[in-house]
Amino acid sequence: MELNEYQKKCLNTWIGGEKLIRSFLGVCGEAGELSEGAKKYLRGDFDVEELKKRSIGELGDVLYYVSVCAHELGLTLEEVGKFNNEKLAKRFAEGKIRGDGDKR
Ligand SMILES: [Mg+2]
Repeated sequence: MELNEYQKKCLNTWIGGEKLIRSFLGVCGEAGELSEGAKKYLRGDFDVEELKKRSIGELGDVLYYVSVCAHELGLTLEEVGKFNNEKLAKRFAEGKIRGDGDKR
């Protein structure tokens, strides 16, 4: 499935008000749920196979909110992905993958 096709399908279930801010909060909330699995994995609650099983749903939830957030900002998921790929490729080419901050 292409990214923009996925994004359009997400909009079929994207209902309710305050969509712009709610989409940002959705990304944060679902990223938190994703990290819960990693926390419990590190605590030794389950193995990596269980982490994978738990993470597929949460990764999908993060992707959903990223998709609708991009839409609310007038961006396609393809544009977001392309921007990110190009940013990271530039950093890699310049030997700046390590470190922090957006201005590398
Ligand atoms: Mg979730």
